[in-house]
Amino acid sequence: MNYRGLGVGLGIVVGPVRRMFTVVPEPADEVSALSLKDERVRAREALETVAVELESRARQAGGDAADVLAAQAMMARDPDVWDDIEALLVQRKTAEWAVSQAFSAFVGMLKSLGGTQAERAADLVDVSRRTVAIIMDVPYGEIPECDEPYVLVAEDLAPADTAMLDLSCVLALVTSGGSPTAHTAILARAKGLVAVVSAAGVLDIPDGEIVVVDAAEGTIECAPDADRIAEVRERMSHEDDEGDLSDGQLSDGTAIPLLANVGSLGNVQNALAKGAEGVGLLRTEFLFFEEDVAPSVEEQTARYREILVALDGRKAVARTLDAGADKPLAFLPLGKEDNPALGVRGIRTVHKHEQLLRDQLESLSAAGSAVPSDLWVMAPMVADATEAEWFASMAREAGIRTVGVMIEVPSCAVVADQVFDAVDFVSIGTNDLTQYALAADRQNGEVAAYQDAWHPAVLRLIRMVGDAATASKKPLSVCGEAASDPLLAVILVGLGVTSLSMVPNALREVRSTLAKYSLEEARVLAAIALDARSAADARSRVRDALPRSPR
Ligand code: PEP
Ligand code: MG
Repeated sequence: MNYRGLGVGLGIVVGPVRRMFTVVPEPADEVSALSLKDERVRAREALETVAVELESRARQAGGDAADVLAAQAMMARDPDVWDDIEALLVQRKTAEWAVSQAFSAFVGMLKSLGGTQAERAADLVDVSRRTVAIIMDVPYGEIPECDEPYVLVAEDLAPADTAMLDLSCVLALVTSGGSPTAHTAILARAKGLVAVVSAAGVLDIPDGEIVVVDAAEGTIECAPDADRIAEVRERMSHEDDEGDLSDGQLSDGTAIPLLANVGSLGNVQNALAKGAEGVGLLRTEFLFFEEDVAPSVEEQTARYREILVALDGRKAVARTLDAGADKPLAFLPLGKEDNPALGVRGIRTVHKHEQLLRDQLESLSAAGSAVPSDLWVMAPMVADATEAEWFASMAREAGIRTVGVMIEVPSCAVVADQVFDAVDFVSIGTNDLTQYALAADRQNGEVAAYQDAWHPAVLRLIRMVGDAATASKKPLSVCGEAASDPLLAVILVGLGVTSLSMVPNALREVRSTLAKYSLEEARVLAAIALDARSAADARSRVRDALPRSPR
């Protein structure tokens, strides 16, 4: 039996399954036999042990993982949670019951908020389970011993565990729960770990069964035959090769610059080590997620400047703050909306807070003039040419020389010819463009199957933008996840895209796949995909038409 989920990254591995169960017995609602003082000590000590353990993991893990783990440690010390525990303890409840009840109230609240807040609920559940396990003295979610490298299968791994996974033991991570935007998947992606999440039923695969995990396909194949195992092992043996770090180009020599999507200075350094030719998407909101008050012009200038210095004159495409919907910013209160993905997000937030945009543009401009750099600036979620003109005039007024917009809203793709008249370049955000074209909330796992940029409707929208780019002779990039799918990257180029920006871990495979096709071949494959009836049909028609398989 084979299973299907949502792949994180592009790798493929073969190996035996080891399952990890992360369930702690439910504490009973009974009157405590201990004194109130003793129950307080049990709860306090367990919470503190969990906080200290998570902090120590944060120090060892570093990077993005450190922030997630440190945030979890803070949850264990949250005074509001403690007040709720205390209120239950004084009613003579046991420490384990009080802890599990207090946390589950907060978990319920986060889940009711939906979106990313709901995904953070998993982090809180983990803190609760860890604490209860200590109080009840039961084992909790231990990563299996490593006698040979294995595929770890779990219900959903806690960020704390994902961060600590030993990559010499764990070949891949497969979870029955989770989603590609939850922290576990984000950390797996940052570690370059092959992962498939939200794969229902995988906990039924017995320990020891050999499986092939293909993140690009989002599949788990059970009991593969000897030929398939040999083929996957051959591909795995090339995974650690330094690889070719040359600039992106097609087989006919057409240059397709390969850039990186980044959200921190550390990401930039990693991207350059993987051969990125620059940054095609700097998610500036990621730099200021933690801030409660809007960062000053000086503070912003310093942050942008250090990134430009690291890029040493290479291209840097900064996106202005993309707040709202799945990316709330504490210093930009937007109020509750019934449909936040269709509400005030991206550029729409700064229509009400124009000074915020002006300050950001001034900071970017100051950073760009302070050091030798090639700074381009674009706005997210632009709906049409009028909005593009509004942004462009403000950006130019601030001294930005190369101004663009992201095309993520279908209306903007349809009038792309008008949009190109207003700006110097365009970058397509295929994550949002797909969500809006297919009317499928990208935060909602129930409709995740619609979130597929191979869909011919999405490709036809991209073709409209590609035709407008060609007619205007202006650059067109793709910076959504579609750019990191090697074969789809070829199709995008065939539709008129002139550069691609992606997670750094995808650069190598995209580079080597592009090098196999000429521009003419890419156009032929794109035409085949445009005629397909569905995303799956587009993939299979294109694969059938390949002169030789890139996979
Ligand atoms: C996109 O929508 O494709 C994109 C790159 O923006 P984000 O994922 O940050 O919304
Ligand atoms: Mg977007």
